[in-house]
Amino acid sequence: MSTKEQVLKHYFGYDRFRPLQAEIIEWVLAGNDAMVLMPTGGGKSICFQVPALLHQGLTLVISPLIALMHDQVQALQANGIAAAYINSTLGASEISEIERSARNGTLKLLYISPEKLFTGGYLTWLCSLNIKLIAVDESHCVSVWGHDFRPEYAQLSVLKKQMPHVPIMALTATADRVTRKDILTQLGIPDAKVFISSFDRPNLSLAVEAGRNRLKTIIKFVAERPRKAGIVYCLSRKNTEQVAEGLQKAGIKAQFYHAGLPANERATIQDKFLRDDIQVICATIAFGMGIDKSNVRWVIHYSMPSNVESYYQEIGRAGRDGEKSDTLLFYSYNDLLVRKDMIAQSELPPEMKEIQMAKLDRMKQFAEAEICRRRVLLSYFNEEVTEDCHNCDVCRNPPVRFDASIIAQKALSAIVRTNEKIAMTMVIDILRGSNNRKIIEHRYHEIKTFGVGKELRNEEWADYLQQMLNLGVMDIAYDEQHVYKLNTSSWAVLRGERKVSLVRFRSFDERQLEREVQVPKEKNKREIIKDELFERLRQLRKDIADERDIPPFVVFSDATLSDMAQKKPISEREMLEVSGVGEAKYRQFGERFMKEIRDFLKTIPKSSVSAGIDTVQYTYQLYQEGHAIEEISMIRSLNQTTIYSHLAKLYEEGKAIDVWRFISRNEYREIMGAAHVIGAKKTDPLKPLYEAMDGKYEYHKIRLALTIWEKEQR
Ligand code: ADP
Ligand code: ZN
Repeated sequence: MSTKEQVLKHYFGYDRFRPLQAEIIEWVLAGNDAMVLMPTGGGKSICFQVPALLHQGLTLVISPLIALMHDQVQALQANGIAAAYINSTLGASEISEIERSARNGTLKLLYISPEKLFTGGYLTWLCSLNIKLIAVDESHCVSVWGHDFRPEYAQLSVLKKQMPHVPIMALTATADRVTRKDILTQLGIPDAKVFISSFDRPNLSLAVEAGRNRLKTIIKFVAERPRKAGIVYCLSRKNTEQVAEGLQKAGIKAQFYHAGLPANERATIQDKFLRDDIQVICATIAFGMGIDKSNVRWVIHYSMPSNVESYYQEIGRAGRDGEKSDTLLFYSYNDLLVRKDMIAQSELPPEMKEIQMAKLDRMKQFAEAEICRRRVLLSYFNEEVTEDCHNCDVCRNPPVRFDASIIAQKALSAIVRTNEKIAMTMVIDILRGSNNRKIIEHRYHEIKTFGVGKELRNEEWADYLQQMLNLGVMDIAYDEQHVYKLNTSSWAVLRGERKVSLVRFRSFDERQLEREVQVPKEKNKREIIKDELFERLRQLRKDIADERDIPPFVVFSDATLSDMAQKKPISEREMLEVSGVGEAKYRQFGERFMKEIRDFLKTIPKSSVSAGIDTVQYTYQLYQEGHAIEEISMIRSLNQTTIYSHLAKLYEEGKAIDVWRFISRNEYREIMGAAHVIGAKKTDPLKPLYEAMDGKYEYHKIRLALTIWEKEQR
C-alpha cells in the first residue's frame, strides 16, 4: 500500500479526503507534531489512522474513555485493520496476546487509557517498541481550562520527554484559544502546527422552539422520524424519566438514562441504543460522552444548555456520518432563570461565576436570534459566514416584525403606575384586566392601565415582554423577584421618542401549522424506491450486526447505506464504488448486500430504477418490459390518457410499438370511418369527432387511431 489515497480507498472505502485531512497526514508523516481541531464528526480519526497504516511500526492512541476506545477498535477491525486496546476491562491473557502482536509488529494501532499508561511500567515497555506516532484524542482533557479536565491527562508531558523523536498529534473538537495553547504546552509540543477546520456542520439543521408543550412536540417530532435514532437531553433526572415515559406511552421505544442508574443498567441501555434496539434515549448530559454511534439522526434539548460549547458538542452527536440530521432546542425565559440560579448558587469563585454568566448570555443570544442561527453559532467560534444557511428555522421561516410602540407603552405604563414593583405575571394580569385577589388587594384594578391590553392573549404578552427585555427597553431586577424596572430607553418609549419593533407572536399551533405547510415535498418515484431499498438494507445490516454481536453502524454507516441505495450496486466493481465500502467490508458483507439489492430490483420494474430519463422514454421502457397500460399508468402515477399519448408519439417516431395491443381493428375502422365522414384530421381538435360518435370512444383511443392512420398514409 503506497499512497495515502490508496489506503483511504482500500481500508475505508472513501474516494477523497475531507478538507485538511490530507495536509495533516502529510505533515505528521514527515515527522512533525500537530494539533487537529475539528468538530465532532469532522473526521479526525482518519488523520492518525491513515498514517498508522502507512508507517512500518505502531501508532499509539491515548483515549480517555473505555467505551470510545472499544468502538473505534471495533470499527477498525471491521475494516480489516490490526487494532487493539488495553484497558482495565481486559483479562491478563488477552493483554499478553495484544502485547505480543505489538512487539512483533503485526499490530498497527494500540489504544490505551492514560491510567493504564502510567501503571505497571507500561510506559517503559512502550518506549521499547517501534512507535511511529502518538495520537492524543480528546486532548482538551489535559487542560484545566478545557471543560473536561482529567488529572490523569496532566502527566502526558512525559511522552515527549521519553520519546522525543515520535511525533505527537493532539486532537479535540472543542478548545478555545487559551485551552489550545495550554494543550500544546502540557503535551510538550509548543511549536506544533495547529490545523483548524471549519466548525460548520451543514448537515445538521438547527431550530429553536418556545418551551411550551414540550412533550407533545417531542412526540410529534419522533413520530415524524420513524426508526430514526435520537437523543433528548434533559436538565434533571426526573425530566428524563418523564419524557421517556411520555414517549413510551406513545408507543416509541424510549429509555431514560442518568447517573442515578446502576452502572450495569446504564451500560445495557447504551448498548441497546448502539444496536438500534432503543430508538430514543432521554438523558442528562451524562450520556453521550463515550458514544461514537454515527447514525444518531436527531438531538433535542429539552432545556437550554449552559453555554454554546456544550450545546454544540451535544447537537454534534447527531449526524456524525455526514447525513442530514435535525436538532431542536426548547427555550423559555424560565429555563434561563433556572440556569442563572444554578450558577449563582454554585460554589464557584466570583470571577468564574461571571464567566459562566457571560457564557450563558451568549447561549441566550443564540436561542433568541432572529438572524440565521448558523451565523450566530459560527461567529461564536470566530468563524465568519457571509451567507444564510437555509437550514435553520430562522432561514426557513423568517420572523415578521411590526411596530409595537403602543403595546410597549401600555406595558411600561403599567409598570410606572405600580411603582416598578411587579413582575411578569402581575403586569399581564393588570394589562388583561384580571380580577384576581392580589390585584384587588393592591388596588391595581383602580389604575388607569388596568385592562388596556385585553386584545392580546396571555402568551402573547409574555412573549412581547420578553422581547422588550431583550431589546433593552426595560430592565429586570433578578435580585428583587424579577420585577421590571424602567430605564432611560423606557422613558423614551413612553414619551413617544423611540419606536419599538417586535417580532409578531405566533403560537405553538400556528407554528406547527406553518411547519406542516412547509414540509411536505412530494417524493418522486426514484426517491421512493431509494427509501424502500434503504429500509431493506437497513434491516439486513441489523441482522448482520446481531449475528456478529456488533452495532449496526459498524457494519456500514447510514451514509454508506444511503449511497448504496442510490447506486444499487450488483457487481464487485460497483459495490466498491460505494462510499464506505472498503476491501475488508466488501469481503465480509458485499455478497449479502448485493443479493438483497438484486432481489429488490426484481420486485420493481427495471426501468424505474433508472428514472430521471425522459418521460416518454420511460414509458417506452415499461412498454418494452411488457407492462399493460394500466400498470404503466400506476407505476408512473400518470393517467392513462398521458400514457396513450406517449405511445402514440413513440409509434409516430417509428418505435416498435404494437399499437394493436391498445386498439382493436374494429375500433380503428369505426373511428376512422367517422373521421372521414366529418373530415377530421389528427391536428384538429378531437371534440367534434368524439361527439360525432356520441362519446363511444375515449379521447386517447381516437388520438391513437388518427396517429395510426396518418402513419399508414406516409
Ligand atoms: P470525529 O472523530 O472527528 O468525531 P470521525 O473520525 O469519527 O469523526 O469521522 C466521522 C465520520 O466521517 C465517520 O463515519 C468517518 O468514517 C467519516 N469520514 C471521515 N473521513 C472521511 C472521508 N474522507 N470521506 C468520507 N467519510 C469520512
Ligand atoms: Zn440559517
